[in-house]
Amino acid sequence: MKYYSTNGNAPIADLQKAVVKGLAEDRGLYMPEEIYTLPKAFINDMPGMKFQDIAYNVAQNFFGDDVDGDALQDIVYDTLSFDCPVVKVTENIYALELFHGPTLAFKDVGARFMARLLGYFLRMGSRGETATNGTVNVLVATSGDTGSAVANGFLGVEGIRVYVLYPKGKVSPIQECQFTTLGKNITAIEVDGVFDDCQALVKSAFMDEELNKHMKLTSANSINVARFLPQAFYYFNAYARMKALGLVDELVMCVPSGNFGNICSALFGHEMGLPIKRFIAANNANDVFYNYLQTGKYEPKASVQTLANAMDVGDPSNFARILNLYSKNNALTPEATHHRITNLISGATYSDEQIKETMRKCYSETDYVLDPHGACGFRALQENLKPGEIGVFCETAHPAKFKEKVDDILGIDIEIPARLRAFMEGEKQSVELSKDFADFKAYLMNQ
Ligand SMILES: *Cc1c(COP(=O)(O)O)cnc(C)c1O
Repeated sequence: MKYYSTNGNAPIADLQKAVVKGLAEDRGLYMPEEIYTLPKAFINDMPGMKFQDIAYNVAQNFFGDDVDGDALQDIVYDTLSFDCPVVKVTENIYALELFHGPTLAFKDVGARFMARLLGYFLRMGSRGETATNGTVNVLVATSGDTGSAVANGFLGVEGIRVYVLYPKGKVSPIQECQFTTLGKNITAIEVDGVFDDCQALVKSAFMDEELNKHMKLTSANSINVARFLPQAFYYFNAYARMKALGLVDELVMCVPSGNFGNICSALFGHEMGLPIKRFIAANNANDVFYNYLQTGKYEPKASVQTLANAMDVGDPSNFARILNLYSKNNALTPEATHHRITNLISGATYSDEQIKETMRKCYSETDYVLDPHGACGFRALQENLKPGEIGVFCETAHPAKFKEKVDDILGIDIEIPARLRAFMEGEKQSVELSKDFADFKAYLMNQ
């Protein structure tokens, strides 16, 4: 499979280059040249298949041209060592729980898949079969959950070093300890700024010629095709579980969104033939995409801090992919593209007050404990489902990851899973830097 850039000014890349580089030369995002449709028979058979086998079929569709079948199967099976169950919350709303992985957030799947795929390319390189050779340095900006998932996904993978950049004081203590206590090939960098500053530092690093001569850099943010595409596995699996319940005639999928990588993978699933009727992108107060849906104008702005901090994004990077997908790589006018997008996707935006209210109401009426991100998804379905429709929302993180907030809002004492407690016993190690690119560059040049 070949990959082109959403900006249209970079050479076509193969999968290996797209994964190792992350971002194209023209700062665009890589898109697969083709999206193969999966056979109807496969869609029909999915309810009888287990998650790993469904995922392997989907993975072959994306990566089968470039990765040997047995190796791909190992990567998929090894990535999905946990389940993503669908749980009934109300009569017509189900939670797709994506938080049963090692760091209890949905990004585990993409991060683990990418680490294993990169490891595969590095092993091929060391056998002299392809060009990837020498240490690969993964740079990742995080507002919390990405850093922990990527750090844990890549922990101990040979030939890879990971630098996690996060905004000082703006990440919950439970999140912070999941990437600052690991050591080994993981370095946490505490930036005196906000998430957007961290993201800007990472983007500048990729564009800096001198730095790129000094070291091989890649990104594990959802701009990387190896991180966002595997997330499509969830949606096929969710469809299969809902179909087993006989509930897929009018299925609405609702995705709490920040950088829009997760919903983008769901949309790719839809393009591959997954019969989902429509999608809802649920946002917190960061409403850039919501406004685009209403007006057809995309106007990025600075992010604002909210209770659902993994979605505090003012300029979602995967918006470029969504536009490219529905404009057929710019073949359609902006108006026609907007029309196609609004026909399939609607939006919702909620204040912190609304998030709290939703968590309380859901808990008192159903006993289900929502985390602040999932709460946006749940509420968007409650407000938008039409008669006859069944909604599934992604519960993107375990509520215990936001224990202080959740306890406070619901007046409970939520139990911290053992996996999470283990991180909290480690010792914090981090490097403090300003938000100046010159400082970050000087630091990396010394590595
Ligand atoms: C990353 C994250 C999101 C947003 O996902 P995107 O792919 O960036 O849209 C939502 N909820 C949680 C808990 C997350 O960690």
